[in-house]
Amino acid sequence: MCVRSCFQSPRLQWVWRTAFLKHTQRRHQGSHRWTHLGGSTYRAVIFDMGGVLIPSPGRVAAEWEVQNRIPSGTILKALMEGGENGPWMRFMRAEITAEGFLREFGRLCSEMLKTSVPVDSFFSLLTSERVAKQFPVMTEAITQIRAKGLQTAVLSNNFYLPNQKSFLPLDRKQFDVIVESCMEGICKPDPRIYKLCLEQLGLQPSESIFLDDLGTNLKEAARLGIHTIKRQGFAVLPKLVSNSWAQAIYPPYPPKVVRLQVNDPETAVKELEALLGFTLRVGVPNTRPVKKTMEIPKDSLQKYLKDLLGIQTTGPLELLQFDHGQSNPTYYIRLANRDLVLRKKPPGTLLPSAHAIEREFRIMKALANAGVPVPNVLDLCEDSSVIGTPFYVMEYCPGLIYKDPSLPGLEPSHRRAIYTAMNTVLCKIHSVDLQAVGLEDYGKQGDYIPRQVRTWVKQYRASETSTIPAMERLIEWLPLHLPRQQRTTVVHGDFRLDNLVFHPEEPEVLAVLDWELSTLGDPLADVAYSCLAHYLPSSFPVLRGINDCDLTQLGIPAAEEYFRMYCLQMGLPPTENWNFYMAFSFFRVAAILQGVYKRSLTGQASSTYAEQTGKLTEFVSNLAWDFAVKEGFRVFKEMPFTNPLTRSYHTWARPQSQWCPTGSRSYSSVPEASPAHTSRGGLVISPESLSPPVRELYHRLKHFMEQRVYPAEPELQSHQASAARWSPSPLIEDLKEKAKAEGLWNLFLPLEADPEKKYGAGLTNVEYAHLCELMGTSLYAPEVCNCSAPDTGNMELLVRYGTEAQKARWLIPLLEGKARSCFAMTEPQVASSDATNIEASIREEDSFYVINGHKWWITGQGRPPVPTHGRMPPCTCDPRNLSTSCCSFCFGQLPFLGGFLAPRSGILDPRCQLCVFMGKTDPHAPRHRQQSVLLVPMDTPGIKIIRPLTVYGLEDAPGGHGEVRFEHVRVPKENMVLGPGRGFEIAQGRLGPGRIHHCMRLIGFSERALALMKARVKSRLAFGKPLVEQGTVLADIAQSRVEIEQARLLVLRAAHLMDLAGNKAAALDIAMIKMVAPSMASRVIDRAIQAFGAAGLSSDYPLAQFFTWARALRFADGPDEVHRATVAKLELKHRI
Ligand SMILES: Cc1cc2nc3c(=O)[nH]c(=O)nc-3n(C[C@H](O)[C@H](O)[C@H](O)COP(=O)(O)OP(=O)(O)OC[C@H]3O[C@@H](n4cnc5c(N)ncnc54)[C@H](O)[C@@H]3O)c2cc1C
Repeated sequence: MCVRSCFQSPRLQWVWRTAFLKHTQRRHQGSHRWTHLGGSTYRAVIFDMGGVLIPSPGRVAAEWEVQNRIPSGTILKALMEGGENGPWMRFMRAEITAEGFLREFGRLCSEMLKTSVPVDSFFSLLTSERVAKQFPVMTEAITQIRAKGLQTAVLSNNFYLPNQKSFLPLDRKQFDVIVESCMEGICKPDPRIYKLCLEQLGLQPSESIFLDDLGTNLKEAARLGIHTIKRQGFAVLPKLVSNSWAQAIYPPYPPKVVRLQVNDPETAVKELEALLGFTLRVGVPNTRPVKKTMEIPKDSLQKYLKDLLGIQTTGPLELLQFDHGQSNPTYYIRLANRDLVLRKKPPGTLLPSAHAIEREFRIMKALANAGVPVPNVLDLCEDSSVIGTPFYVMEYCPGLIYKDPSLPGLEPSHRRAIYTAMNTVLCKIHSVDLQAVGLEDYGKQGDYIPRQVRTWVKQYRASETSTIPAMERLIEWLPLHLPRQQRTTVVHGDFRLDNLVFHPEEPEVLAVLDWELSTLGDPLADVAYSCLAHYLPSSFPVLRGINDCDLTQLGIPAAEEYFRMYCLQMGLPPTENWNFYMAFSFFRVAAILQGVYKRSLTGQASSTYAEQTGKLTEFVSNLAWDFAVKEGFRVFKEMPFTNPLTRSYHTWARPQSQWCPTGSRSYSSVPEASPAHTSRGGLVISPESLSPPVRELYHRLKHFMEQRVYPAEPELQSHQASAARWSPSPLIEDLKEKAKAEGLWNLFLPLEADPEKKYGAGLTNVEYAHLCELMGTSLYAPEVCNCSAPDTGNMELLVRYGTEAQKARWLIPLLEGKARSCFAMTEPQVASSDATNIEASIREEDSFYVINGHKWWITGQGRPPVPTHGRMPPCTCDPRNLSTSCCSFCFGQLPFLGGFLAPRSGILDPRCQLCVFMGKTDPHAPRHRQQSVLLVPMDTPGIKIIRPLTVYGLEDAPGGHGEVRFEHVRVPKENMVLGPGRGFEIAQGRLGPGRIHHCMRLIGFSERALALMKARVKSRLAFGKPLVEQGTVLADIAQSRVEIEQARLLVLRAAHLMDLAGNKAAALDIAMIKMVAPSMASRVIDRAIQAFGAAGLSSDYPLAQFFTWARALRFADGPDEVHRATVAKLELKHRI
């Protein structure tokens, strides 16, 4: 089945539609048919409904829970709650209405999870056409049973729908007797309901067979003397629940298991066959009668086939249509004991290259000769007069087609064998000698991926309806990351499990079907494409996925392993850039979906359907982008790490070019790479002296700054000045994604704290110093690269001291840039430059810590409290999902008119989720053992924002610097970091490498300021000559250059010492740079402002902001005096 046609299929429409079924009429019951019983002693088969004829509610619940991020098992537990008298059982006895049930049930679920649960949507799914659909194998079995003269019955525990009709999504005509619990007011396993069913059938218990998936129901039937068949997989009833009624409702299996069991009605049918003694499965799988619009002239076809096969007498020609092959209609033909398949072009005018069945015929013929399992093709008929269009005929290949990639009902070892066979056959296809089989001209050789990218971009653009950010990023990213080397082989183009016919008993591929998209190309595209299901949810329409399954438990190889398996079989080195291929494959699917969406907008489809298809495109494009991001990380992380202490270093010089913000720096006049100046373990003072991979990274960052960051500054700046400033700028979020994909992410975590490079880039402090300076040339770059304070310090704190649970909860979202954090130490009532002064209390209470305290200057807490404008709250917007229009009213236009709302906790930077809180657990302990650090979720009740503080009038939105009260804030004990009394130690550790980041950035500020100054004074004339010719200006430039160089050398030296000897040994140098860097930056920036004239104070240039932050850092990083005191103390202590 071709993926394109999958999505075009009208099935997609009903897959997504939810509606209640309307089968309601109760058939007359108890009718008997007069036929012979084929030797069977049984006269009737009684079917349970949910779990036997249609999927069980357990499976539906599992699927719904995954989709709605509800803890698995919640629904099951709630359904069992109360046993016989619980809402579910009363609902099935029609003692309460659907409305009443949903009310009670919703309440139950919400109580369990302490949050509202949308049970209505579960109920809709349960009763939707998509889900509540009879298994075809059961339909077939019922037809056969009835054909043999046996009666059929359905005995179901069911309920009334809101429209007062009973829920029975079955064709009632299939059954002689229907017994529904909601109509009788009794449920299985109450014996009365079985007796009622037997009575209506007019049979003794021993004359019937009963199929159910629940042991308790079967037990009662067996006790009455009915023969029972239990659906496979439900053999063991859970021990978790003791109430037999509850067990009768649903066994509390883990949802994944339930899902697998439910999808396997085949085994039950086999067992039934054994009992009945006749076959129940005679039809050709996956076929249906030919649609009216798809009929083909049988007579001329029969004549053609007689000639082709050389047969005289044939009997009637049987014709069915396959569900597969939407794009090229495909038929099953039975003629004179020959089973054949015909595949034709669709009728009507076609694009010249589309539906090329001639190519399909050609490739299958060629591949059969090369030993690839394909159906045996017999003839290509290009004469349209036979059936109206060209077609080809092949032999029908009986076997199994696995439509569900989770392979329900199979043993783990069997599943693994199936996937291995799939992999092997793909290798076979890709190993075909093109020349030997005459396929060299089957497609263009080389450049397959670039061509495909261009094609799909074009297709996407042609059907684009609105901007999808992930698609835009991919359109830029894919051409830049094309694989360097590509092999050329036959590619299938749509290689998926359900395009393979398997041997019924062996894990062996008998035939690979649907070659419509085959060509010559890069084989890895096929490998990636065959792993799509690994990343899609099981509820994904048409392309059913397995990303919500436990693959290890199922025995299915993960995608990485599948790739490895492929490379091993092909004798290739491991595919390092497989994430690229996955990104490309999903991009292609997203482009297809967008086409479907566009057509749905213009066609007849319902608006719900159109909307949902649109969402699919976005969903898939985000998946594709996730792979692009992973590839970015992979490229970066795999750059070999060279220990800076063992490589050669040199100072470097070349003529300084005119500054662009990231222009190369000149340090001295020593010739480049002079061997006389290399020394082992020396200080890397220039980016050009960094190891090759880090140098490459530096240049990548530089390029990124030039291409992405500087051009974005005006927009980012105006966002910060706009009414929407308290919500994050979408542009920042977009740039973050781009930086991630380029591997320019989390560069700050020092190798020493993260030796396995598990969380960060694994740079040394010196290496990072150069990159950090570069980021410092823009106020926005640190956040774009997830390297901004206070997150960096907090992340480092979690890496160093966090438990695994704390890391999982806080560190990972921070590393992914999905959350932000703040650090709360400073208090208004005490001199906080001395951390031992802080007064906030942390008191133990049961299994909690209770915090009380008043903090301020808490960077990253962001938004001000909501002003009431002297009346009721103007809006009730979700603070974590602010829209610009909403906030402009609250925060932009009328700020602080007095009368704040009683501040709600969690009203902060919408992304700020964690507060690293410093308080005192024991005021009587020794001075440095009184403090503790707690991780406080920002939505904990009792956190009250008083106001945002400003720095020279700047708010620094959306992070901001908040004044906050903590009033009886209760935090679980496991949120303590390291333990009580360890706060001081943690604060010191937190400020390890983080201590020098600000200094590095300040050098970046200064370099940019000087560059701007130089450009300005060259271009501006005063009193008849350029400013640059004024002596004072020249003196200022010289002074600034010297000061920057001095400060940089000191910063690099501190970083180098930290790398060599550790943070403690570098204490003096750290204190020195903290003394030096902010004031140096203030002076350099001040000179630049002066040279600019009044413009320097405006926000047209970053100078005023640079100046503000350089000044603020003389407090934020601890007051200058404290650093001076440290330097003096150490000077006196260690030096003579
Ligand atoms: C922009 C900005 C962001 C900030 N972000 C945070 C944050 O996220 N979290 C947080 O907890 N805090 C933050 N702070 C607060 C900052 O850490 C404190 O302002 C700083 O520690 C000084 O404390 P203080 O303001 O209480 O000054 P005080 O301790 O009252 O000191 C006032 C002055 O006293 C003098 N002084 C102090 N000690 C000495 C000494 N030993 N010798 C001589 N003179 C001395 C200095 O001149 C000093 O400036 C931020 C501050 C700013 C400006």
